[in-house]
Order: sequence, then structure tokens, then C-alpha cells
Amino acid sequence: MEQTLNAASTIDEVLSKRPLIISGPCSAETEEQVIETATRLKATGKVDVLRAGIWKPRTRPGSFEGVGTKGLNWLNQAKKITGLPIAIEVATGRQVEDALHFDVDVLWIGARTTVNPFSVQEVADALRGANVPVLIKNPINPDLELWIGAVERVAKAGIKNIGLIHRGFSSYGNTEYRNAPMWHLAIEMKRRNPNMMIINDPSHISGNRTLLQSVAQKAIDLDYDGVMIESHIDPDKAWSDAKQQVTPERLAEILDGIKWRHETTNEREFVVALEKLREQINHIDDELMQLLGQRMKIADKIGQYKKENDITILQTNRWNELLERAFRKGESLGLSNEFITKYYDAVHMESINHQTAIMNS
Ligand code: PEP
Ligand code: MN
Repeated sequence: MEQTLNAASTIDEVLSKRPLIISGPCSAETEEQVIETATRLKATGKVDVLRAGIWKPRTRPGSFEGVGTKGLNWLNQAKKITGLPIAIEVATGRQVEDALHFDVDVLWIGARTTVNPFSVQEVADALRGANVPVLIKNPINPDLELWIGAVERVAKAGIKNIGLIHRGFSSYGNTEYRNAPMWHLAIEMKRRNPNMMIINDPSHISGNRTLLQSVAQKAIDLDYDGVMIESHIDPDKAWSDAKQQVTPERLAEILDGIKWRHETTNEREFVVALEKLREQINHIDDELMQLLGQRMKIADKIGQYKKENDITILQTNRWNELLERAFRKGESLGLSNEFITKYYDAVHMESINHQTAIMNS
């Protein structure tokens, strides 16, 4: 049975559905794979837009770099069969031209493109005069200005319907996620663009299947407008991002498992406000830990110096001086002397333990 995008439901109307669910393979691989994925996604009744990468920006050369323009035919075929509008990533002016020529419904700018103002400008120039929604992923590095700059370039090209996709940020030493979510950055981006929709991309944040559900839930708790989750008919055999893709049927289970929070408006507002504040606290706690780690490294250096010069670890005068200073500062910041004493004792003990370890080494 063939379906077409109902004339009454324009792409802007489809994108205004809440929650908006975008899914499809990381990459279009073969015509059969695209059509079977689309058909099985459609059968779940839960997906609004079909995504697929046609040109893949890969970190290292030699990996599969996408099927190219022929994939646009397959996507159009899938759209004819399922009625699902189609979305692809564009990174160059030429790719925009091809996408527009093939009537792609939604374009997105990938994280590796958002980082580069030259590339974003080239894409924006090619978009001039087009009437197509454009979703802009956050840049791979945690730099809000680059994300905002990309939005401005696309807006200046006359694109009216611009949305945001939060796909997490590259970071060293983060083991749990492929791309650290750094929720506070997305929250701040949304605060600065209150009328722009924001979609979460649990697939590229997680980098694996197990975290998808909890990341998607968090996004919904933070009042995101929807999610984009990669799906594949045979995830383990996917040509790109195999570890994070799920079957269309598993996607449906994940979506079913999400608590969509149909509470009354008051309750919903409360949950969202609370989640946002908690994220800010998480962020500050992370920074405090980083700073404490740095502080101990300096204590190690002092320990080394004391060892070389045969000085005792505990120097009472210095410690009293530190405390007095902290009490005065704490007063203006609303921190009690009792808290400051406890905090400094704990920090001091840790510092002494570090220095003792150095002295005995
Ligand atoms: C993708 O969506 O498949 C992709 C390449 O994502 P990102 O730009 O977020 O890395
Ligand atoms: Mn991918």
C-alpha cells in the first residue's frame, strides 16, 4: 500500500508533534535495508520522521563514508511506501543542492560540521531561498558560541524552521558515555532560544544500547521536544555505529518504557524546574571535584618540596590563617562556620594523607 505525506500535514506540522520521534539507520546501506527499516518503523506507529546518513563524516579515513546520492532514491522510495518524511545530514553546499533536488523534507547539520564556521556558512549559502526545516546538532566540543553561531548563519540564510539537536560532547576520560551529555549546556542553549525546538539524540550520547532508555528519559524529564534514536534491521551488522543501534521493535519497547509525564501542568512544571536545577547542581559538583583534584595535586607538590627540605607536614600557623580567611569569606557567601570547619578539616586531612604518602615514598 502506498502512502504519501498527507497534503494537509505539512512538514512543519509533522515537526510540531510532541514528543517528536525521529528514527532510522545511522547510514543508508542498501535499498532493501532502507525500505525494510522504514516499513518496520512505520509498523510501530511511533515514529514521525525517517532519518538516514547518506554522506558520513567519519573521524578516520577508510571507514564506510556513505552511499552518496543514490541513497536519496532509496529514501524517497521508503517515503512513498510509508508516508514518513525523510531527514538527512548535510555538510557541504553540494550536498544541500542534492538534498533539495531530491525533495528531502528535513536537513540536519552534524556535530562535525557545526564546529566549522566555514562549513556552516557554505551550507547556509546553499540553503538561501529554500523552504526546508534545518536541525542543528551541537558542535563536538562543549562550546555554546559555535552552536549559536551556526543557528545565526542558518537563520540569516532565511531558514524559518530551525531546531536544535543535543548529541553530547567529546570529552577525555569519560567512560560511561560516548559523548558526555553536559545537560547544562543544552539547557542554557534552550534558555537562549526559547522558541526553538530541541531534540535529544540518545544514540550518539550513549554510544551503546544500554544507556539509550535512561538518556531518553532524562531528556523527556528536562522537557525536550523529542528524540532522535538510530535504528537498524540488523544492528550488529550495521556499517556504522553498530554498537548503539537498535531494531525498530526494540525502539518501540524503549519508547514504551519512557514515562512521558502526563501529570497536570503544575506538576509537570515542577518536575522540569527541579530537573533543570539538579543538572546545574551536578555540573557545579563536577567542577568542585575537578578543583579538589587539582588542589590535591598542588598539595603533592608541596609535600615533595617539604620532603626535599626536611620540613614538617603540619604547620599550625598556616592552618589557622587559612581557616580565619575562610570564615570571613564564608560569612559573605552564607556558609556557616560549622560547615567551613568540617569542610576544611576534610580537605586538610586528605591533603595531609597525600603529603604523607609523598614523604614516605
Ligand atoms: C549521525 O547522526 O549519524 C551523526 C553522524 O551524528 P553526529 O553528527 O552527532 O556525530
Ligand atoms: Mn550515527
